[in-house]
Amino acid sequence: MTLARVFPRKTNATPEDEYAFVGLPPAILPEDITEIHISTAFTYDIEEAERLYGAWSKIAPCSIGGPATGQRGEDFVPGKYLKQGYVITSRGCDGSCWFCVIPKREGSVRELPVREGRNVLDDNLLACSESHIRAVFKMLERQKKQKHRTFFTGGLEAARIQEWHIELLKKLRPKEIFFGCDTEEKFHHLREALKLFKEAEYTSRNTLHAYVLIGYPKDTLQDAEKRLERVKALEVCPMAMLYRDVSGFVKEPIADWKRLQRLWARPALIYRKL
Ligand code: SF4
Repeated sequence: MTLARVFPRKTNATPEDEYAFVGLPPAILPEDITEIHISTAFTYDIEEAERLYGAWSKIAPCSIGGPATGQRGEDFVPGKYLKQGYVITSRGCDGSCWFCVIPKREGSVRELPVREGRNVLDDNLLACSESHIRAVFKMLERQKKQKHRTFFTGGLEAARIQEWHIELLKKLRPKEIFFGCDTEEKFHHLREALKLFKEAEYTSRNTLHAYVLIGYPKDTLQDAEKRLERVKALEVCPMAMLYRDVSGFVKEPIADWKRLQRLWARPALIYRKL
């Protein structure tokens, strides 16, 4: 069986091998494709995934799946639905953040076999057992020995940060660590976590970032900007994430929200301000 994977849009994480495609089928295709999966990461791409299904299902048996369809993630296979280098070592979370679909889709945290990769995208790595977390850092140390920089772009939950995590991070020296900072409570946890980093003399060298959700119902441009500035004042680089509902709807005035998001999603510019 030769599986082709199709993606409605290209992102930094989209695989680039000869059986990975973005959009409609190209004029020339490998002849040995026997099955097609359309992988949809964002709910607002479901309509496009259905359009692609119409075209790709003429080539081979085809199905639509991926996180946007509510499908639970399987065991992680490097390079299959994410580009080589990205890695998922656990799925799920017991949290109850109002904007997050992960607990509903994936259920409680479950540990997966630790595959090789350098950019960790787990839903909530720090909710895993100590032995699992240590195994992930061991794998990342191997990556570092092969001269690969490491990243935690999936985000670490600041509320769970403990001294031993910081010791592991100090040794690994990742290029980027992201935290979530979407609510008052999370801001408090981020501030507390930073105290631990300081006590451990962890010099961040522009490695600490925080996702800040903006543009959700009842949010205002002024409030959103204040939250971003507040994170910046902690000397953490804020990364604005624009809230969209399931249909992809962005709050009005759309142009202003998009401008604000772009302004706070450029680390080089923000570091200059820092
Ligand atoms: S802690 Fe993270 S993964 Fe868990 S519910 Fe909140 S945002 Fe989602």
